Order: sequence, then structure tokens, then C-alpha cells
Amino acid sequence: MDRRRGTAGDRPDDSDAEDRVNRCATAYLRDAVEPSVSAVGWTIGSGPAVSAGRGVVATKDYAEGDVILVDAPLIVSPRTLTGVAESPVCPVCYVAPGLAATGSCAGGCGLPVCSDRCSNDPAHADECRYVRRLRPKTDGSRWSAAVYNAVTAIRGLAVNGGAHKSFLDLLQKKFTDKPTVEVEELKKNISMKLEEEDEQIMTITCKIMDANCFETIITRNNKLISLKGLYPVASFMNHCCVPNTMHNFNEKLQMIVKASLPIYKGQEITTTYTHLLWSTSLRQNHLLTSKQFICTCYRCCDAEEFGTELAALNCTVKNCSGRVLPVNPLNKFSVWQCKECHKLVTSVEITSLLKKLCPLMNSIQQCPKRFETILKTFNIYRNSTFVVDLRLKFIWKSKNNNLSLEELLYKEKSCVEVLNIVQKLGLGQCRLLGLISLELLKVIEEKIDRFRWKTKTLNIFKEQISNLYKISVSVLDGDANTSITKKP
Ligand SMILES: [Zn+2]
Ligand SMILES: [Zn+2]
Ligand SMILES: [Zn+2]
Ligand SMILES: [Zn+2]
Repeated sequence: MDRRRGTAGDRPDDSDAEDRVNRCATAYLRDAVEPSVSAVGWTIGSGPAVSAGRGVVATKDYAEGDVILVDAPLIVSPRTLTGVAESPVCPVCYVAPGLAATGSCAGGCGLPVCSDRCSNDPAHADECRYVRRLRPKTDGSRWSAAVYNAVTAIRGLAVNGGAHKSFLDLLQKKFTDKPTVEVEELKKNISMKLEEEDEQIMTITCKIMDANCFETIITRNNKLISLKGLYPVASFMNHCCVPNTMHNFNEKLQMIVKASLPIYKGQEITTTYTHLLWSTSLRQNHLLTSKQFICTCYRCCDAEEFGTELAALNCTVKNCSGRVLPVNPLNKFSVWQCKECHKLVTSVEITSLLKKLCPLMNSIQQCPKRFETILKTFNIYRNSTFVVDLRLKFIWKSKNNNLSLEELLYKEKSCVEVLNIVQKLGLGQCRLLGLISLELLKVIEEKIDRFRWKTKTLNIFKEQISNLYKISVSVLDGDANTSITKKP
């Protein structure tokens, strides 16, 4: 989704080209989403309103929660497997049968298709026939990881043969001279030679996917499955670390983009390509390695990130209770400085500290007690990005009815603290606000169930639940992957 390609000679300032992009986008949405898409409240363009290259600009005002666009995936595919222990999902219906139960397509394409029903699914027919003709080296029974990892590339061939092949030209491609691993691996694992044109389209598809894909979430057998989705119109949205939109996916895997903050006519419409609660250095690092650009948004320029101090480390000077933050957050070699005693710390020292800290934090399982001990022992700042990450892990993974009272209260506190950060960062009606509000609501319900409360306390709880319910419904309405069942 990186639109940072506004280099000289590549400036998309040609209004004919922009007309073409907008024509393709509206034609696509009309075909793939809604025949009545005619008046859209945005345009794809370049110029001073846009942070880089081409972007999406509002042509009318939007209030928080307004739907800006509904986009359909041009390609959806499973995530690439990176090791033999990883289990694939069925590339047709996306259930995850588990590694042991994974079979191979009866059609002989070598893909780990889950059932005869999926093998015979008309949606699989073309790619099944195509891959079979390539004669995958699977001795007829095993499934092939190489073919599986090339599903994205293979699906590009269908796009090229379809009505919206123009997106293969229009969408940004990740710039790399390296051969595309997925296509190279496929070539090694088939007996036939790929047609030159097919190979070219496959390579382009992989590069487009790398630069533009969104994480698409789908629910199968009560499990959330993470896929890659190419949403050709939404992918024109530029990145911001305080984006003004959020998105959900509906049953049809369509992406519903809504305003998370008020957006005014003429303002750029943005999304995020990284994690909203990561500190600036983690976000910068992620954006640089995955999307090859450095974000310079107003959040990135503020070392304290609007008072959240997500990047902060505790000062190591004896008796100093200050926190150490980078002097220039945009420069990864910047010195850091304690806000209290003003001691300077070099980036080398910080890097070596973080190198020790990261594996330690990753090793912590969801046990708040152990976790608190580690924070104390290693003098970790309690609102740092690492701690927020651990809190989130605990919130998502713990099941309320299995928690001790201490753990339940810890979860409640964690939810409140995360909501606090979301608010300080000014993220508006972001998806995280909806999800955490929903979790907090469930924690309060569990508290009500466990004890006998005085009526007055009970009424306070009920009011909290009612407010949280309203927030989660307004954010997560139409989200196929969250179920907000009870209405308090
Ligand atoms: Zn299936
Ligand atoms: Zn097949
Ligand atoms: Zn930023
Ligand atoms: Zn200090």
C-alpha cells in the first residue's frame, strides 16, 4: 500500500492518467460491489492535498462513522507458508483443517484443497486446470507448498484475463530487482515450463500484492483466519500513523471503509499500513522494511506521541524517575535523553537494550504476575509499547470465565489503559476502540455474574455496559468477524 513513489519522472500529475484511474475505480466498484455506485465522495489524485504520489481525497465532508467506500477484493489468497511446520488453509474455502488432516485436491493440482466439494467448486476450476497442466511434482497425492505459495501469482492470471486487468498497470508495484521467490519456487516444482507471458504476469502480481495488499480477516469454524487481499480502490489510500479511516470485512470479504475521524472536503483520506499502538521506532522500522518509506506524519514527529510516551524507557540513573525518549524520533541514530536528569543515551546503547528486551517480552506468556515481576526487575516503563503489546495479548487470548479475580481485574485495567492510549493518540472511532470496548464490556458482565452487588454498584456497571455497547456497535457494525449478540 505504499504510494511513496513520487520520484521525479514518475509524477502522476497528468490529469488524463488520473481521470483514467478514477474511471477504472468507479467502473470496478460498479461491477464488483454495487451497480448503483455513481456519486462517490472522493477522488484519486495527486497534488498538495496528498502526502505522497497518488492518494484519495475527500470531495465532501464525512462525519465519524460514515461509510466512505465499499471495495471488493480483486485477489484473495492465503498467506505464504514460511516453514514446514506451518499448516495451510484451504485455498478455496479458507478453512484450516490442521497440518495432519490436510489432503490434496482430487483434481490433481497439488493444492491443499480441503474436500471434494472444494475440489469441484467452480471458483477453483480454472486455476485447478491451469496448475494441473503444469504437472506439479507431487506424485499425485501430496500437496505442494510451492504451488500453494504461488496461489496469489496464479490468481493474477485470472485478473489479467478479466474485465479489470487495467489495475495490473495502474497499481503500484514493489520495486525490487530480485526474482520473485513464489514464482521461482513454482518453476522448480513443476515439470512443464511456464509460458513467458504467464511468468511475467505472475511476477507483476506478486509485486503488486507486496506493495498493496491488506490483511483480510475471515471467520472459519469460529477461528479467525488471516488472508491477503488486494482491494484495488482502497489501496490508493496513503498511510498515516493517525489515519482518518478504519475498515471491516463483511461476509463477502468486501472491505467497508469508514471515517474514524471527521474528514473535510479537500482533505486526504488515509489508512494505516502498520500497528497503531506501536511506538514510532517500531512503526518506522516496519514501514521501511515492508513498504520502503519513512513516515513523517505529525505523530512520528512528536517524540512523546501525544503524551503516550510509547517509545519511552526508564532512566537508568540512580534515583532518577525520568523517562528516556529520542531527541529526533525520525532519525534512528538519534541520541535519546532523559526528561528529568537530561542524561544522554546513544542510539547504540538503546539498540542493544532493545535487543535484549524484545525476546524477553516475546517470551512472556499471558501471566500478569510474572509480567509485573519482569517489569520491575528490568525497570521497564509501564506504558511502553512492549507493555501495551503484552496487555493486548492478554486481552485477546484470555477467556474471562477461566480467569482468577486478580486476572480479571488485571484485564479490566488493561482494557481501560489501552482505551486511554487510543484516546490520547486521537485515533477516533478506530477498530481497536470497538474491539477493546467489547472486551471491557464482557469483563464487566463477568464481574456482575461472579458476585452479588449492591443495586447502586450494579447500576453503575449497567450504565458502563450500555455505553461500551453503543461504542462497539457503532464501530463494528457490519463486521463479519465480531459478534455483538446481547443488547444490554
Ligand atoms: Zn475448502
Ligand atoms: Zn485443484
Ligand atoms: Zn507517521
Ligand atoms: Zn534521568
